[in-house]
Amino acid sequence: MVLALPPWSAARLLPDLPVPTRYAPILNLHFAREAPGTPVRFVGLLGGLAQWVLVRPSGVSVTVSAADESIDAESETLAARAWDEIRAAARAFALAGEWPEAPPPCRAVKERRATPRHIAGATPPAPPRRPLANLALAGDWTLPALPATIEAAIRSGEAAARALRD
Ligand SMILES: Cc1cc2nc3c(=O)[nH]c(=O)nc-3n(C[C@H](O)[C@H](O)[C@H](O)COP(=O)(O)OP(=O)(O)OC[C@H]3O[C@@H](n4cnc5c(N)ncnc54)[C@H](O)[C@@H]3O)c2cc1C
Repeated sequence: MVLALPPWSAARLLPDLPVPTRYAPILNLHFAREAPGTPVRFVGLLGGLAQWVLVRPSGVSVTVSAADESIDAESETLAARAWDEIRAAARAFALAGEWPEAPPPCRAVKERRATPRHIAGATPPAPPRRPLANLALAGDWTLPALPATIEAAIRSGEAAARALRD
């Protein structure tokens, strides 16, 4: 069996498992801004709220990683702030389509335990890959030498399969 759960769920099933205890939030804002036929653009911003802005014909999405300072703010406040930044970027990069002053309808998605909290310094210890004879662990958090991303998730799955095979 391969158990590929978030740390807190894995720890519920295997109570002695060492799991991360601190997490970092990610904020996503999705604006319903329709601009059919316009090209897809991906913009990185510095010094504000929005970090990555994905402009698609069907909408505009914003990602804010390590969003500690904004995760508790009102969604409407965050949307207004990010939209101002997006409009400024749209002007600067001559992004196609209309960019009205008022923000389009926006959905904020706040994920408080998006990733284990990565800090500078020693890599935290990894949990045992195969804590039971017939069970291996997978999941981004089981490879703490890498950031908790898709790459870590895939590599951890491969490691889990190898651990059960060998
Ligand atoms: C908002 C956000 C943005 C991200 N952006 C990026 C990015 O741009 N690039 C990137 O590489 N990575 C990104 N990541 C990280 C990436 O999503 C993760 O690294 C990856 O999904 C981890 O895969 P996983 O299989 O370890 O865990 P997960 O994808 O979390 O899968 C665990 C699964 O277990 C299920 N589960 C939980 N509890 C139980 C239970 N009790 N019983 C059964 N099932 C259960 C969950 O529903 C989930 O489907 C982002 C993460 C978040 C939250």
